[in-house]
Amino acid sequence: MSKNTGSIVHESLDALFEDSSFLPELQNEEREKALRSIRSILSTPNHVYKSFLRLPLNNGEIVRIPAFRVQHNNILGAYKGGIRFHETVNEDEVINLATLMTLKNAVHDVPFGGAKGGVIINPRNFENEELNLICKKYVRYFSDIIGPDKDIPAPDMGTSEREMDWMMAEYKSIHPGESYLGSFTGKSIVNGGSLGRKTATGKGVYYSFRYMLYDFLNQNKDWLGSQNNQYANKLIALKNKPLNIAIQGFGNVGSIIASEAFRCPYLENKIIAISDRNVTLFHSDGLDITKLINYTQGNYGDLPKNEKELEKANISAKIMPRDDLLTLDVDVLFLAALEDQIHMNNMNNIKTKVIVEGANSPITGKADLFLNKKKKIIIPDILANAGGVIVSYFEWMQGRDTKFYTEDEVNNQLFEKMKKTFEIVYPKYFSDHFSLRENCYIQAVMKLSIVLYKQGKLY
Ligand code: NAD
Repeated sequence: MSKNTGSIVHESLDALFEDSSFLPELQNEEREKALRSIRSILSTPNHVYKSFLRLPLNNGEIVRIPAFRVQHNNILGAYKGGIRFHETVNEDEVINLATLMTLKNAVHDVPFGGAKGGVIINPRNFENEELNLICKKYVRYFSDIIGPDKDIPAPDMGTSEREMDWMMAEYKSIHPGESYLGSFTGKSIVNGGSLGRKTATGKGVYYSFRYMLYDFLNQNKDWLGSQNNQYANKLIALKNKPLNIAIQGFGNVGSIIASEAFRCPYLENKIIAISDRNVTLFHSDGLDITKLINYTQGNYGDLPKNEKELEKANISAKIMPRDDLLTLDVDVLFLAALEDQIHMNNMNNIKTKVIVEGANSPITGKADLFLNKKKKIIIPDILANAGGVIVSYFEWMQGRDTKFYTEDEVNNQLFEKMKKTFEIVYPKYFSDHFSLRENCYIQAVMKLSIVLYKQGKLY
């Protein structure tokens, strides 16, 4: 587990130990013992599975590809978490991401546990038939441990609805006569996917921000003013102000954040910078997001990266080095690319007032501490990017009922579910000394602990 997730789980338990309303039936030595047990349970995964998938390449060579499935905890329901295809996948990262899934589901009250999968490949280096075989092999090698009531994978970096369709089809072949629609989520609509699933993470990320800067701020302005707290003062200072926004990453999550921000009727947003794996595009008057989305759709997801491509996209922008986006003087920075983007070496240069984490763990533990000391408002991954798993839960329910919701129904239920969490954690954040991430972890750990205790798992 990364130091970040692990240490915050420990700190959450320390905070809960002091809270007399938390499990009041446990006192003194019994309380200490119970908290040590919870610490031990939540800081380790239930299972770590590793296989080397045997893959005959199209050129006749056989290669063995390392693949993981980590099941962290299932006290709240079946294990749930994406499968990542990326060359940097490693066991610690998969364990950390599985842990984050347990906590994310707990804080948003989604009845699933936490899991994660990973395959160490760069999918761009494989032909489609080879990728199809990798997906089938992943399901075959892990077929005993996955399923609609055991462990339900979903897409993550490097995988999409295409891979989920392939995997579900393989699951169906291996388990004839059994229900299969709930075995994978993030599938295509024609294969039992949910309307609104593709946009859910990006929409949820933007909503976590909009809810704080518009709904929560407007409804609680006087209360926030009375808190005399630096986070609350910072938030109030952003009220009724045009907001300069930068977005790192322009894939599934980043492009939806951008389009939500671009056409948001509630806030005066100006997206002055976006970046992808190649470049940063900047315009102080704001970028035309609709044109950029149209361009990326015809160009393998990449933004224009030179003057010729900008002209082709009919976009006026300055091309800057990719990582310059992170240190721009903006009001809000959305991180929607990769892990560890703000770290020891660039944390001193971060000028934005608000950071929203669309990606998982885009800020290292040390940088997170540093930025919190600087009183930057950070809306963390566990809170902001749960839209995907929430709509996955809706997809799983729809697959079981074989009754499907409209896109508006999905979006409305997504916002309602996230709002319930915001209503718990935002007031706490603006009135106590914990960061928003710590508040979310405390909330998640509290729920998991109470369920563990009530199910008799602490004996
Ligand atoms: P994606 O592959 O669709 O897009 C990633 C984007 O990041 C691309 O535009 C890519 O060019 C860009 N990028 C890569 N390296 C970069 C760099 N160094 N600097 C700037 N940009 C860079 O992936 P996605 O689905 O949008 O996921 C983005 C992040 O969000 C990942 O960390 C993922 O784990 C997380 N996430 C995704 C979902 C989901 O539903 N897709 C859910 C939760 C979390």
